[in-house]
Amino acid sequence: MMIVMQPGAAETEVEAVRERLAQTGVHVVVMPGELTTAIGAIGDPEGVGELGLEGMAGVDRVVPISRPYKLASSELSHHEPSRFDIAGRTVGGGETFCLIAGPCTVESREGTLAVAEAVREGGASMLRGGAYKPRTSPFAFKGLGAQALELLAEAREATGLPVVTELLDSGHAEAIEAHADVVQIGARNMQNYALLEVAGRLGRPVLLKRGLSSTLDELLMAADYILKEGNEKVILCERGIRTFETATRFTLDLGAVPWLKLHTHLPVVVDPSHAAGDRRLVEPLSRGAAAVGADGIIVEVHQDPEHALCDGPQALYASGFADYAGTVAAHAGLLGKRLA
Ligand code: PEP
Ligand code: MN
Repeated sequence: MMIVMQPGAAETEVEAVRERLAQTGVHVVVMPGELTTAIGAIGDPEGVGELGLEGMAGVDRVVPISRPYKLASSELSHHEPSRFDIAGRTVGGGETFCLIAGPCTVESREGTLAVAEAVREGGASMLRGGAYKPRTSPFAFKGLGAQALELLAEAREATGLPVVTELLDSGHAEAIEAHADVVQIGARNMQNYALLEVAGRLGRPVLLKRGLSSTLDELLMAADYILKEGNEKVILCERGIRTFETATRFTLDLGAVPWLKLHTHLPVVVDPSHAAGDRRLVEPLSRGAAAVGADGIIVEVHQDPEHALCDGPQALYASGFADYAGTVAAHAGLLGKRLA
């Protein structure tokens, strides 16, 4: 349920409603807006309905939140899209486009620093790079772990780019929190609810990837797991889903972007690399993502993709990144966005 306060309701009135709700054990979120404050009460709608909140001082109305996802929903006071700052880059809000680029996996010091420098020069907003990798086969290269986190920190120091890296296991949470500017939750862990709660408590923005076979409702309910821990900085990522089509690695669901824009206040980025599995498709899909209103792109780039230890065929050449970034930025510019 959502309790909408009257314009000009006193803080003490808001607090009285919050306390009344808290006593019933529901999850309470107070959202001050420009004109009115709304209070989200999540869980037990019948119980909240019976509290008679309409009669309390300062309350305008009590309305149900009809969607299965709550905190992520655009119904919940957030008439404005969420926007937040990551080391000086604005994510969300419709004025900026965030280009997150870098290797699939951190493999070496030289390679990581070279790619980081190339993507910075090309106009990237952030650097991506996996330290702990979820691999389909347990015998594949699973990343350099803690050593990779140190290399990412060095690359951030050298370029000034904030770092996005995946949290795979709650046992790595402290190390990831210490090294990452944005914590990535991979597609395979979108429904690892315990991990989502850990990520929600880390005090870093979270980039949440859509599961390979997850619906958008499920994605937004997964986002609720992070948001309910008090972390409001969640970025959603469409990265392709499983369909009957096998020509591309996954099927990029570009329709997800405008749908999400209608149903959630959270920023949405697109990963064309994992969807395509083939670098020749990455630029056209990126142009499409910008055109349908994505807030950014997360893309794989390698200095020597032929010798990459992971996802080489889909990695853009570092040497071509600046041209790619220019094209994508021009498409984002058609919707009035500039690179973050
Ligand atoms: C990745 O970003 O390198 C990755 C493993 O992505 P996903 O979780 O979308 O497969
Ligand atoms: Mn990858």
